[in-house]
Amino acid sequence: MGVQGEERTIGVYLHVPFCLRKCPYCDFKSVARPGLSEAEGEAYADALIKELSSVIEREGLSNRPLETVYFGGGTPTLLAPSVIKRLIGSVRGAFAGCGTKGPEITIEANPDTVSFERLKGFREAGATRISIGVQSFDESILGTLGRTHTARRAVEAFKEAREAGFDNIGLDLIFGVPGQSIRDWEESVAGVLALQPEHISLYGLTIEEGTEFFRAYKDTKRLPDEDDVAQMYESAVRTLKDAGYRHYEISNWARPGYESVHNSRYWRVKDYIGCGVGAHSFLSFPEWGRRWWNTPSLEEYIEGVSAKGSAVKGMETLTREEAVLESMVLGLRMLEEGIKGEGFRARFGLYPKEAFPATEALLSDGLMASSGEDLILTHRGAVLSDAVFLKMLSQMA
Ligand code: SF4
Repeated sequence: MGVQGEERTIGVYLHVPFCLRKCPYCDFKSVARPGLSEAEGEAYADALIKELSSVIEREGLSNRPLETVYFGGGTPTLLAPSVIKRLIGSVRGAFAGCGTKGPEITIEANPDTVSFERLKGFREAGATRISIGVQSFDESILGTLGRTHTARRAVEAFKEAREAGFDNIGLDLIFGVPGQSIRDWEESVAGVLALQPEHISLYGLTIEEGTEFFRAYKDTKRLPDEDDVAQMYESAVRTLKDAGYRHYEISNWARPGYESVHNSRYWRVKDYIGCGVGAHSFLSFPEWGRRWWNTPSLEEYIEGVSAKGSAVKGMETLTREEAVLESMVLGLRMLEEGIKGEGFRARFGLYPKEAFPATEALLSDGLMASSGEDLILTHRGAVLSDAVFLKMLSQMA
């Protein structure tokens, strides 16, 4: 199956694996490197550029229009603005063009690694959007999460980003943290709203194996009650709606026109190339598509890319059944857009309701809603999304 029209665009994810220190709940591919030197940053950027150009050549992607670039981590703002500028220039130069609007270029930031000057540098380097990891406005919750920054520093970083020219700022919060009450959570949501960012992401804490939190909270009695966690989410849904934000994805809200274009590519199952330690890539061809991922080790990554331009650790080719399931589950995450029945049928030869017989029960339980063959999750379906997806998976045609 060829890639045509708007589907031809591509997104690039660049993973920067360095952090000031390792947060105890984090299972992202990151290492503590508080004194990262400019030379180390430059050497890592060289590897990213080399890997990207070898993927583009291998896959024949140079004529694809670049839609998005996303610097994720880790903490990309540990790199110097000059390094980010060089990376943006290399990525843009590697593709045919990027349409009239120019690509959306996002950089994730930790409040403790930025200043007005650095933020101005990132903006001038070409970043169009910044996503600041605030996590909480409560000092004791920030302490539990092992964050290096204070709530006050997060507010300052937001204001500095505005002054530096960012007119598209996202703030992230975490809920369901040990010791967090519903009231603490509501105060953090109010703290975010007071700053009026364009984009807000709210993530429920998950305790991942291999993290310090996994060892500390194996006894789940020390975690907030499940009903309280659901209430935190629901209260945020109401508050952000009243404040005029669009709840466009299960964990994401935006002012109209400020939805994350890059992350929407993942939910719409569009092509992206991920470079860097542990990064994942997806291409929707041939047939049902394939994905691959890099080694999680920084040393192996640098060695692999220096020697052969690649540090791929694993690869999988999707079966039709996997592609059907992925399109459905990721598409339903987009709460306003949902699944378009005709588009789904054009790709897979049957309507979503035919592919997932459980849909009828989910519709009558009020967890999903339909308009003709189009499907969306309802508000209740979004709250119970894990259960909805499990039920669909258990009955696939
Ligand atoms: S700053 Fe982010 S990526 Fe780095 S350790 Fe903390 S949670 Fe993980």
